[in-house]
Amino acid sequence: MKKISIVIPAHNEEDNVVLIHQRVKEVFAKLKNYTFEIIFVNDGSRDQTQAKLEQLARNFEEVKFIEFSRNFGHQPAVKAGMDLSTGNAVISMDADLQHPPELIPDMIKKWEEGFDIIYTIRTYPKQISAFKRKTSTIYYKFLSAISDVNLSEGGGSDFRLMDASVVGVVRNMNEADIFLRGLSNWMGFRRAGIRFTAGERTFGESSYDLKKMMKFAFTGITAFSVKPLYLAAYLGFIFSVFSIFGYGIYVVHSFITKTEISGWASLIMTVVFFGGLQLIIMGIIGIYLGKIFKQVKERPNYIIRSKNF
Ligand code: UDP
Ligand code: MG
Repeated sequence: MKKISIVIPAHNEEDNVVLIHQRVKEVFAKLKNYTFEIIFVNDGSRDQTQAKLEQLARNFEEVKFIEFSRNFGHQPAVKAGMDLSTGNAVISMDADLQHPPELIPDMIKKWEEGFDIIYTIRTYPKQISAFKRKTSTIYYKFLSAISDVNLSEGGGSDFRLMDASVVGVVRNMNEADIFLRGLSNWMGFRRAGIRFTAGERTFGESSYDLKKMMKFAFTGITAFSVKPLYLAAYLGFIFSVFSIFGYGIYVVHSFITKTEISGWASLIMTVVFFGGLQLIIMGIIGIYLGKIFKQVKERPNYIIRSKNF
């Protein structure tokens, strides 16, 4: 009998954890040749998620939980589940039922065909705001363009099956800011994709507001976010643009009024322009310095407060 580990990060999902367990259980009831475990990772929830998980774990032996000491984020939560998984394959999925458990048999079928990573390609239902759809598409296109991994296919979804051999590779990675969506692509292996339509969130609210999405985006691009350094880069950019406009205005002005360009103004504009340019470059260097800074501290990706196994 092969064992499948289902890893489910949960941040304020008190109404969903019981439901998703139920749905996954129903799916595996029909899969005769597989046993399963569900590893819930409580990522610093402030509602009754932990109490619900402890109750579930008391009633069902396949339910395991990991409780974080605080909110570490979705990606570290998935990593924690994978780190402690014991299955022959690991499937990561969201707690809010946006990732239909009914897709699990198809994923396992592909896995049995010999693929190591089964990723999913999310197509959005009509209800999801056009804003979120568009930003997500643009983000993954942009990310693919500036990095050496192609994320446009399946990059936007953490609903994924990984063979135990792949999980072993992830387990041994100690990147300061883990970004599984990118990593799963970067690692290679034999990959296959499955399409699905993301459902509506059943209960609770999405933990991702615009601010979190922006942060997630920056993490993905630089694998780190060091705000003041970004500020330096932004300021540099703004000053550069400003000085270019300034130049234009003075040139036009001198043509119209037939007076010479004041030496003082053109000098200042040149100074500001190159000052800005230098800030941009320094900001970019700083971003990478910040990444090194975070990496050398070697802090763990997450801290576990309690677990039942
Ligand atoms: N999640 C988490 N930690 C966080 C934010 C989210 O573990 O800081 C979990 C959340 O419980 C859910 C999954 O990650 O299972 C996806 O989050 P959400 O549904 O809020 O994101 P969306 O589907 O809106 O992108
Ligand atoms: Mg969701």
